[in-house]
Amino acid sequence: MEGRQTGKIGSSRPTRTRRIERTKRDYPQKTFKKSYSKAAEGKVRIIPIGGVEEIGRNMTVVEYGDDIVVVDAGLQFPEEETPGIDFIIPNTKYLEAKKDKIRGMIISHGHLDHVGAIPYLIDKLGNPTIYATKLTKAIILKRQEEFPHGPKLDVQEITSESRIKMGKSLAAKFFDITHTIPDAIGTVIETPLGNVIYPGDFKIELDAKGNPENIEPYVNLGKEKNLVLLMESTNVEMPGFSMSEKTVRENLERIFTAAKGRIIVGTFSSQIERIIEMLKIAESLGRKVFIDGYSMKTNIEIAKELKLFVPKKDTLASIDRIDDYPPEKVLAICTGAQGEKNASMMRIANKKHKYIKIRPDDTIILSSSIIPGNEKSIQNLKDNLARQGARIIHNKMEDIHASGHAYSEELKMMIKMIKPKFFIPVHGHYFMLKTNADLAESTGIPKENIVTPMANGIIIETDGEKIQPTKETVPANYVMVDGLGVGDVQEVVLRDRQMLSQDGIFVIITVIDAQSGKVRNSPDIISRGFIYLRESQDILKQTRYLIKKTVEEATGKMHPVNIDYVKTLLRERIAKFLFQKTKRRPMVLPVLIEV
Ligand SMILES: [Zn+2]
Repeated sequence: MEGRQTGKIGSSRPTRTRRIERTKRDYPQKTFKKSYSKAAEGKVRIIPIGGVEEIGRNMTVVEYGDDIVVVDAGLQFPEEETPGIDFIIPNTKYLEAKKDKIRGMIISHGHLDHVGAIPYLIDKLGNPTIYATKLTKAIILKRQEEFPHGPKLDVQEITSESRIKMGKSLAAKFFDITHTIPDAIGTVIETPLGNVIYPGDFKIELDAKGNPENIEPYVNLGKEKNLVLLMESTNVEMPGFSMSEKTVRENLERIFTAAKGRIIVGTFSSQIERIIEMLKIAESLGRKVFIDGYSMKTNIEIAKELKLFVPKKDTLASIDRIDDYPPEKVLAICTGAQGEKNASMMRIANKKHKYIKIRPDDTIILSSSIIPGNEKSIQNLKDNLARQGARIIHNKMEDIHASGHAYSEELKMMIKMIKPKFFIPVHGHYFMLKTNADLAESTGIPKENIVTPMANGIIIETDGEKIQPTKETVPANYVMVDGLGVGDVQEVVLRDRQMLSQDGIFVIITVIDAQSGKVRNSPDIISRGFIYLRESQDILKQTRYLIKKTVEEATGKMHPVNIDYVKTLLRERIAKFLFQKTKRRPMVLPVLIEV
């Protein structure tokens, strides 16, 4: 995934997330005392722990004999069903039980859906060695700085030339792939039965004549004994080939050249390759570059440190000096192209940015796609910018954004080059995985040689002849990260949050005479997000009557009064009554005061 990375490297809500490590106040954990089986003798076991029911929290386990290799440790951003949650991370219960067998963790590239969970789970896995390329390593280490209480990570740098022994029976080697971030690699895990291949996120670029570029690694790999290909499904529903990043570059260059005033670009901070390209275009046109947004600045810093590009001495300038330069000499690159609340672009649109005020001759370029769910905030962003007279160019008007994930023809090409015996689609919702499985079948892989994971935590085993899921599964339920800690599915908390977000809250404050058990005065009612009290006088009247009746019936023969019992009864009856009247289920909170 290349989107959703406009927060700090590694956290969309930095201040809240940082609190986690400080407080260390974990949710109560469910204990899984269960021990897990070993891979059957002579069989390779593959477990997608995360990433096969969603886009995000990617993690795959490859196991043979006494050796385990973990590939990727990503996080997923919250969805509607998980209100109030910052991230969802893979469930590592299985690995925790077998942590002495983990020979290493390989990280394919620096995007959050592949590296994001490391700070939350590495300790629980016994802090195994992490293998990553130069840039990925720098991103992992930079992010770990936000977790001062976390362990010191052991990150070994790898290149596509590396080969690493992983215990007695496994080894890993790597191959270069094309994605939207430099230094992305594919992984080959060598097992006694053949290679398990995990390209991670990739796309295949075509040259001007329509020929695929940089495919030698895949072609060479295709000559080996390839047991299983685990292939991503993000764009499997898209026909043909994805747009080339070269086209994006050409269009940006044309738009930059034609712009008369300032250029302000909003994009994903994770699009490091494109940001570097924009810097180069700016240099050629003599524009100064102003980077705004924490994650964007951090990524540029890392790219500079690693000399992924070497800017001329005076290319980059601090944002507070943007007004010192004539408009035709200014390029600002900002976070917040998804309309995120406090990101740079939104502050500009809302006239809250300290240094950038929109001028009529500004050209604003939104070099990004719309991540589903963000339609409204992006519309808002565009409207507010347009009201101030700026000219806006977005990805539907011009080809100024390309996905970093292969479309169906590229995916087919990969399968044909690798020529695996078995195929497992990963990274996506079930329908996407199924579509990817069908696609693999269309390239000639027999149906019985394809396993489409039904859910995270499925154990798939192969003896080299056949491949199939076992009857056993490993824990895969949600592990949440929020401002308070890391924890199992906190069903109660989550249900409460869901209820509050859907139907609001209904608080009843009742004063009871401790002697007589009678209700004193009329009960007070506070309602939020449920019904508008002023327009619901009838319901309120009936509710008050029901409260009085319920309390007095219950307390009539009760000495002393059992407050908890009355509360429970009150909650049940009022909730039922409100549901009958409104078909909604607000959270009912009775407060009883004895006097
Ligand atoms: Zn990615």
